[in-house]
Amino acid sequence: MSGDWRLRVDRSRCMGTTICASTAPSGFEIDGRGQSQPTAEIVAPADEVMSAAQLCPVEAISILLAATGEELFPGAE
Ligand code: SF4
Repeated sequence: MSGDWRLRVDRSRCMGTTICASTAPSGFEIDGRGQSQPTAEIVAPADEVMSAAQLCPVEAISILLAATGEELFPGAE
């Protein structure tokens, strides 16, 4: 769908707090190295996914509009 989101986790920043995965298990999971990764490359928009991105203490999560690549979070400075 045109409104779908592409999720990115900057693994050089992720500290493995698990906050994102517990806030939005539909969007994030913790891998075998104890770091977060998106559950899928493209996900349906969900409030819990946006909340997880906002709650990440090291701002490791980006949300892009899949169709255009527009950055929805954190967005332009
Ligand atoms: S909330 Fe941020 S630091 Fe914590 S696991 Fe998720 S991406 Fe990593």
